[in-house]
Amino acid sequence: MIPYGKQDISQHDIDAVVEVLKSDFLTQGPQVPLFESKIMATTKANHAIAVNSATSALHLACLALGLSKGDVVWTSPISFVASANCALYCGADVDFVDIDPDTYNLSTNALENKLTHAKQNNLPLPNIVIPVHLCGQPCDMDKIHELSKTYSFAIIEDASHAIGGKYKSNPIGGCQFSDIAVFSFHPVKIITTAEGGVATTNNAKLAKRMALLRNHGITRDDKLMTEPTHGAWYYQQIELGFNYRMTEMQAALGISQLTKLFEFVNKRNKLAKRYNEKLRDFPLTLPEQTSDSYSTRHLYVIQLKLAEITLSHQQVFDALRQKNIGVNLHYIPIHLQPFYKNRGSKVGQFPNAENYYKRAISIPLFHQMTDEQQDSVIQALKDILL
Ligand SMILES: *Cc1c(COP(=O)(O)O)cnc(C)c1O
Repeated sequence: MIPYGKQDISQHDIDAVVEVLKSDFLTQGPQVPLFESKIMATTKANHAIAVNSATSALHLACLALGLSKGDVVWTSPISFVASANCALYCGADVDFVDIDPDTYNLSTNALENKLTHAKQNNLPLPNIVIPVHLCGQPCDMDKIHELSKTYSFAIIEDASHAIGGKYKSNPIGGCQFSDIAVFSFHPVKIITTAEGGVATTNNAKLAKRMALLRNHGITRDDKLMTEPTHGAWYYQQIELGFNYRMTEMQAALGISQLTKLFEFVNKRNKLAKRYNEKLRDFPLTLPEQTSDSYSTRHLYVIQLKLAEITLSHQQVFDALRQKNIGVNLHYIPIHLQPFYKNRGSKVGQFPNAENYYKRAISIPLFHQMTDEQQDSVIQALKDILL
């Protein structure tokens, strides 16, 4: 089976992890701060907080921005469930903004309309908006940032797919147009630490709060303590935090993986370009890249032109799997998940997202993919569709 995505682990990566295993620190040592400094250098953000997953980073980001009961988060229905769940962890509510049918990202027109409508009708306005750079294609951050000024909401970029990408020549994660950006290092993402994530920000207060909450709400910093120290052993819990720490092995793997980031993203763009050329005359809608940005091509999503083929979406998907092409579907609209339907969301609420879901298939694209593997994906599509 040719997988839809796959990590690339080199001997250098393995050596880096083994070295940490032989060292004094398996956790809370020098590797995590070093990894954070490399993330800052890559993204040009002033602060980076490494954690055990992007899900944890999203949770900490919401908490640092003060999200709580009675508040609302708006995000895209076409994302992994974690983009929405983070709001509920904080006791807040979540609502969705329909996608743009061309980029599959949260539509800024739909966002503007929903904001205007909410304001006019005294409906809840969002405290935080979480745009997701789906497949690595950056959202229209300029516009979202502009709207945030008028409607005073905070912005967390879910950049889980987008490390190494650029928006208007700024590296994703530099937070020029957001409060916090979040990356995932799950093995299917651009670079991996097995499990892991990071939050970047230019706001020192937010960074401090995320660092505190990552580690139980415990501090050894005299300036943060509310009572005099008892002695050199002393630490103080000043808030209810979590254990969301990243291990030293993960950070060492991340440091090693980061050295290959641009090679990875470059290769993904080459593969995407090759798909674009070779699939041009197929009954498919292909992913286009907006001219002001550089996508990481984390996923290559094709959409079936169902009116031009005899098979159904599911039949094409199954036929590809039968030919050993490890296709997948990113994503099932979050509002159609039983959990969210039980909370009141309904079929038909976000038609562009639901339309996308009826046609989309993620075909294999990963850094080590060979031309031969890519050709067999193309041949399988040809056999099935033409
Ligand atoms: C993978 C992913 C997450 C969650 O990342 P983890 O590191 O697995 O917690 C969140 N949002 C999006 C868009 C993702 O693709």
